[in-house]
Amino acid sequence: MKNHLQSTEWGLNLTNQLIIAGPCSAESPGQIEKVCLAMKEENVLPSLFRAGIWKPRTRPGSFEGIGEEGLKWMEIARHHLNVPITTEVGNAAHVEMALKHKVDVLWIGARTTVNPFAVQEIAEALRGTDIPVMVKNPMNPDLQLWIGALERLHAVGINKLAAIHRGFSDAYDKRFRNKPNWSMPIHLKREWKGMQVINDPSHIVGKRDGILETSQRALNFGLDGLMIETHHDPDKAWSDAKQQVTPAQLKQILQQLDFKTPLEEVQPSEKLHDLRAAVDHLDDQLLDILAERFAVIEQIGAHKRENHLSVFQSERWKQVMDSRTQKGVSKNLGEKFMKELLFTIHEESVKRQEKQLREQVKIVK
Ligand code: PEP
Ligand code: MN
Repeated sequence: MKNHLQSTEWGLNLTNQLIIAGPCSAESPGQIEKVCLAMKEENVLPSLFRAGIWKPRTRPGSFEGIGEEGLKWMEIARHHLNVPITTEVGNAAHVEMALKHKVDVLWIGARTTVNPFAVQEIAEALRGTDIPVMVKNPMNPDLQLWIGALERLHAVGINKLAAIHRGFSDAYDKRFRNKPNWSMPIHLKREWKGMQVINDPSHIVGKRDGILETSQRALNFGLDGLMIETHHDPDKAWSDAKQQVTPAQLKQILQQLDFKTPLEEVQPSEKLHDLRAAVDHLDDQLLDILAERFAVIEQIGAHKRENHLSVFQSERWKQVMDSRTQKGVSKNLGEKFMKELLFTIHEESVKRQEKQLREQVKIVK
């Protein structure tokens, strides 16, 4: 799925990133037209126009989407903007209707990605088509579930796949509507080479303020695009009113963002090359020191074995943790990072020494 901004005659041409914009939900033909005309007036053209037709609401009673009728209105967007259109599908019947109405790109929502039965049903309905599909992350931070949904689509022959990072439900963290957990989209890009991940700041932040900041972080991390809910009159939107922006605000956001060039697309400069060589060298040293440390740990293990001492000693552990964390923090290393690093190293040390004790028992036998 490539950016469509470049190939259009008008519209902000700021970026290589894919920009998806449009309302949370399709509400009426007039609403779709007004959003599109406002986009045109502001000269802000998305790569893809979005609108939800079936809305998976957490509780029944709120607006659950206009249904099939709304698919006809998507033509209005295509007519005014001349860009592909996208909507969410949650089951095989939705897929059938969306294909019938020639929706260009589909996405699977976060509440659907959590359910392998539902994803498989959608995948079966898509077998034999080559429509692009975007998969939102599941509500819970489970990378395997996210990858699993993408794999189910890939297995039926869908090759144009992308992922959408919309954040994760967290009952305790009130800063976000859905907590970003930035390591998740990055892990996904590590595990599935070439997978484009589009950030959805609207559902992460849950309100207009903060969309710019979250979008910038996504670009800094190297994500491949943004999905920003856009409505001509957000306060009156039938769903997600607090988080939608006007086309004018969308334009401001896009103008303020510092779009990054993906590193994959450039030849590394001499400077980057040299700095990376320095890191390679330091990593070698780090590994030599770690190997040396574990060699000493094994000598301590041998001593404990000879003297019938147990492996773990909580006082020593506490002292190692506290002193090293403090020292790390004074060298500008993060406290959480220090604790996780020391924990991992210590765990490996304890395992090695316990293995030495087990081997002793074997010898005695
Ligand atoms: C949406 O994009 O409007 C939507 C319902 O998203 P999510 O599946 O991320 O909640
Ligand atoms: Mn929404």
